[in-house]
Amino acid sequence: MNEMIRKTQSSVRHTSLDPQDWSAFRALAHRMLDETIDSIANVRARPVWQPIPDDVRAALKADVPREASDLAEVYREFAERVAPYATGNVHPGFMGWVHGGGTAVGMLAEMLAAGLNANLGGRDHMPIEVERQIVEWMRRLFAFPQGASGIFVTGTSMANLMAVLVARTSALGTLARQHGIGNDGALLTAYTSCAAHGCVSRAMDIAGLGTDALRKIDVDADHRIDVAALRTRIAIDREVGFKPFLVVASAGTVDIGAIDDLKAIAALCREEGIWFHVDGAFGALAILSAELAPMLGGIELADSIALDFHKWGQVPYDAGFLLVRDGEQHRQAFAQPAAYLRREARGLAAGTVWPCDLGPDLSRGFRALKTWFTLKTFGTDRLGAVIARSCALAKYLEVRVLAEPRLELLAPVNLNIVCFRYRANDETNREIVADIQESGIAAPSSTTLDGKFAIRAAIVNHRTDETDIDALVAAVLEFGAQRSGDGLIEVVAPPLAAQ
Ligand SMILES: *Cc1c(COP(=O)(O)O)cnc(C)c1O
Repeated sequence: MNEMIRKTQSSVRHTSLDPQDWSAFRALAHRMLDETIDSIANVRARPVWQPIPDDVRAALKADVPREASDLAEVYREFAERVAPYATGNVHPGFMGWVHGGGTAVGMLAEMLAAGLNANLGGRDHMPIEVERQIVEWMRRLFAFPQGASGIFVTGTSMANLMAVLVARTSALGTLARQHGIGNDGALLTAYTSCAAHGCVSRAMDIAGLGTDALRKIDVDADHRIDVAALRTRIAIDREVGFKPFLVVASAGTVDIGAIDDLKAIAALCREEGIWFHVDGAFGALAILSAELAPMLGGIELADSIALDFHKWGQVPYDAGFLLVRDGEQHRQAFAQPAAYLRREARGLAAGTVWPCDLGPDLSRGFRALKTWFTLKTFGTDRLGAVIARSCALAKYLEVRVLAEPRLELLAPVNLNIVCFRYRANDETNREIVADIQESGIAAPSSTTLDGKFAIRAAIVNHRTDETDIDALVAAVLEFGAQRSGDGLIEVVAPPLAAQ
């Protein structure tokens, strides 16, 4: 027997993946950390983004690595082939989509979280308390009652989906989780504006309710949902036997940053007994700025709010979040008894509500830690000031666009997003965006507004300043002149002022 134990021990002895030589590992680890810090500190010296050369893309492809490689060699490959060709959102010239810039502090917190390798599905350990602390901070910031609940998720796409599921279970009762949505579920209808993010429609699809059950209500000139039209549509749907169950308002539309009239929608939802969810992916964190917070008036009346710390919150990806007013309804939509997840009065399995009761994930990483570090290290006032500053920079870009006859503003500037174009056709503007991205000077993205191609700049990164805005404007003018042929400017649209 002892012989057997000895044999087994010797055959498993060398399977640990820890370094054989900790001091060599430590030296390399310090170099990685130094180089990562350098790359963040010197980000301006690099292009915002650069196209991936064919040979670099090809060189990454390899067979399954059955044999071990030297860590230093793997790191070298990362440093040469991966890091230089990343998205570029760390760079202050990145203004595409809605991408956060991250911080060096967040980077460190990610490293610390990886060191703990905590699983935040449940059980009794301090990392869960950190997540609960952030839930509590969010509850206070949005003035939700005691008993509210919250959970970290990948992003607002997931948080919106979970809100649809909570609202669905609230409307149909928990038996629907067992029997399926049935005939009643087939009659459920949800409402959002036609400026809402596409993930709302996808959530209806994934929740099994179907995208047809999502009514997309018209918006006004400022891209805010037409509340009178919303009211009418709900009444019509009720009239013919549908069961309106959910309104998804936008606090910061993806195209132009419009904020729906949250107070009016809250009142309508209360009157109608409909779940009121706010997609505040980036806009909700404007609550941190005393100057901007009033624009979110009514958000405190929501039944649930989805937001991303990885956008305006500057927390490294990914860090989405869902806050639900009634924690019990949240739990009822996801909790499931399982013998192996039994809660005990003491020991590691203590605690009543675990995060796995509040969403579809069981094993979960420690997203809360980088958020906790970010909120504590900078303080919410300073993060709010960063948010307000990106709105001021958007105003600055608006002024620059309005002052330049060759440029045309395409939408009102509400928050941090500016949509404009060179006075030329769609095709030319599409080329201009790609030219600028490939130049490495800046990285705007694009959208379509009222059928027109728009160059879209979303100022999210805390590092962005006036020089980055000036560089973007100069690049649009230069590539615009090149593309439309030596100063021969083709005016296809009247100036905004004449509309
Ligand atoms: C970014 C965004 C989303 C999607 O969030 P992810 O974190 O990318 O999943 C949803 N709605 C709005 C308004 C957004 O800006």
